[in-house]
Amino acid sequence: MTASSVKPAYKITEHKYDMIVVGAGGAGLRATFGLAQKGLNTACITKVFPTRSHTVAAQGGVAAALANMGEDDWRYHFYDTVKGSDWLGDQDAIEYMCREAIPAIIELEHYGVPFSRTEDGKIYQRPFGGMTTRYGEGPPAQRTCAAADRTGHAILHTLYQQSLAHDAQFFIEYFALDLIMDDEGACRGVLALDMSTGELHLFRAQGTVLATGGYGRAYFSATSAHTCTGDGGGMVLRAGLAMQDMEFVQFHPTGIYGAGCLITEGVRGEGGILRNSNGERFMERYAPSVKDLAPRDMVSRAMTMEIREGRGVGEHKDHILLDLTHLGPEVIHEKLPGIAESARIFANVDVEKQPIPVLPTVHYNMGGIPTNYHGEVVQLRGDNPDAVVPGLYAIGEAACVSVHGANRLGSNSLLDLVVFGRAVANRCAETIVRNAPHKTLPASACDRALANLDRHRNANGATPTANIRLDMQRTMQADAAVFRTGETLAQGTKKIRDVHASFADVKVTDRSLIWNSDLIETLELQNLLDQAVVTMVSAENRKESRGAHAREDYPKRDDENWMKHTLCSIDAAGNTKIEYRPVHMYTMSDEIKAVPPKARVY
Ligand SMILES: Cc1cc2nc3c(=O)[nH]c(=O)nc-3n(C[C@H](O)[C@H](O)[C@H](O)COP(=O)(O)OP(=O)(O)OC[C@H]3O[C@@H](n4cnc5c(N)ncnc54)[C@H](O)[C@@H]3O)c2cc1C
Repeated sequence: MTASSVKPAYKITEHKYDMIVVGAGGAGLRATFGLAQKGLNTACITKVFPTRSHTVAAQGGVAAALANMGEDDWRYHFYDTVKGSDWLGDQDAIEYMCREAIPAIIELEHYGVPFSRTEDGKIYQRPFGGMTTRYGEGPPAQRTCAAADRTGHAILHTLYQQSLAHDAQFFIEYFALDLIMDDEGACRGVLALDMSTGELHLFRAQGTVLATGGYGRAYFSATSAHTCTGDGGGMVLRAGLAMQDMEFVQFHPTGIYGAGCLITEGVRGEGGILRNSNGERFMERYAPSVKDLAPRDMVSRAMTMEIREGRGVGEHKDHILLDLTHLGPEVIHEKLPGIAESARIFANVDVEKQPIPVLPTVHYNMGGIPTNYHGEVVQLRGDNPDAVVPGLYAIGEAACVSVHGANRLGSNSLLDLVVFGRAVANRCAETIVRNAPHKTLPASACDRALANLDRHRNANGATPTANIRLDMQRTMQADAAVFRTGETLAQGTKKIRDVHASFADVKVTDRSLIWNSDLIETLELQNLLDQAVVTMVSAENRKESRGAHAREDYPKRDDENWMKHTLCSIDAAGNTKIEYRPVHMYTMSDEIKAVPPKARVY
């Protein structure tokens, strides 16, 4: 037990582990049992029950060049991912992911993931956007391994079962507040709040893995769960570290109009077609070879163009139709049962008879906490762009490895979770000494975290959390959208900075610590706000169009000036600082050559 110097004093229970994982989604669970399997004393802290993490909602599938349903090769997958990233992805990390995809998926199969099957009993694979064969010259690849349209559900439950089979400790409904950093810049653990009792817990560890997911809820309309508030990124920024490539936000072409919930790209993989108000299959004009299976950034832009040019549908001509009526009941029942249900509940549509009204909706954050392909967090230090932050790791959507670069291909995220969850466990098995004594912590180690908690718990301003959150979400939705201009970004930067400043006036009404959802939502908003500012500022700064970052005032990709990762940090007063890291334009092995940049057409 330790008492803090912050008044009023908070009682803190201390725990010591070799490794701490924050987050129990696909990435966090794969890391947790991987670390336990390697004999490291490991605990996993999670704010929601593990099987409620957003990974459970993933529908379409997970990519791996298994070649179960036609020609394929991990090198084709590598090529597609580099091209999909619009040459902002690190090619060594992409090689690692696409090569490791095959053993990682076979491993999932052996752990018990109930994949859909082909006639001869192999894992079923469907086509997905941007996935091709023969380095883009061949037909679309059938590469995305699926359990009907509930792949994330199948994977997350299996990973949780595996976690229970290993000797890892779970702290469920614990909210991680802040990283504990020492004077040398190393991470020594986290401070967390047990939401059900209101008690504080200091988790000391040789290594802390952030697997806290994305920050989709910085936007008004997002496919992600309300819990996707980017808490890991918030903690990293408060520790004075930089986030990477935050300007790249993926809009999924097919969120249900109004409700925002997702209709998987797997629908188009199974043959679904996007149509405008003339009934035209307009993607034929934008991507003549792959049509509706172009990557998400391109399809979202094409839909936005159709709507702008007056070919949207509905009373306000403000959305598009996704037609699967021609697929027939058998395909729908067997391959897309969840979609039929979502369309019925959220759009009142019978997909066998009517098309689904859809609109591009915020879906995924390509940016995140910068890491190498071992999951170690890296920062720019002097002239070393790959300096490792001792004791700190990040994986999953919270991280930016960067395998997705400027645009993620569908089904590469579930893959990223398992490949890098496994990679971090392998790395730590080599670098962390089991049961090593913990270095002493200074008495003030928790002061920064406690002061932040205490300030928000007693926040006595005039503006409710929900109002500030809505201002942030509307600003992001309007000004960091599918298309961006210098003008909207300048205006957006000013507005989001004002919203950030307005947080000083936040009002928290509940002062208790037990199940205080008012306080938790406020702490989540703090995490979102820092990342919203960093996103907008990074977007204003990048004067080119690449992947999901489409600027009307700079419509071309500019490799000479901008083929580099943005690093952006923010201080407590909201001042931001931008630096850069070079893109890794080299591979790990000589089994594959780096792909030099060229025009990205499909
Ligand atoms: C609707 C939907 C469908 C998708 N479909 C696909 C698909 O078919 N294929 C694909 O490849 N990708 C898909 N994606 C993307 C992919 O599912 C996500 O990127 C991925 O699941 C994120 O996993 P994660 O492990 O990084 O985080 P999450 O699954 O979001 O888990 C985050 C974890 O962190 C914990 N946490 C967060 N903050 C704290 C805190 N402060 N304290 C303690 N714990 C905390 C949470 O409790 C949770 O356990 C989809 C995404 C969505 C939203």
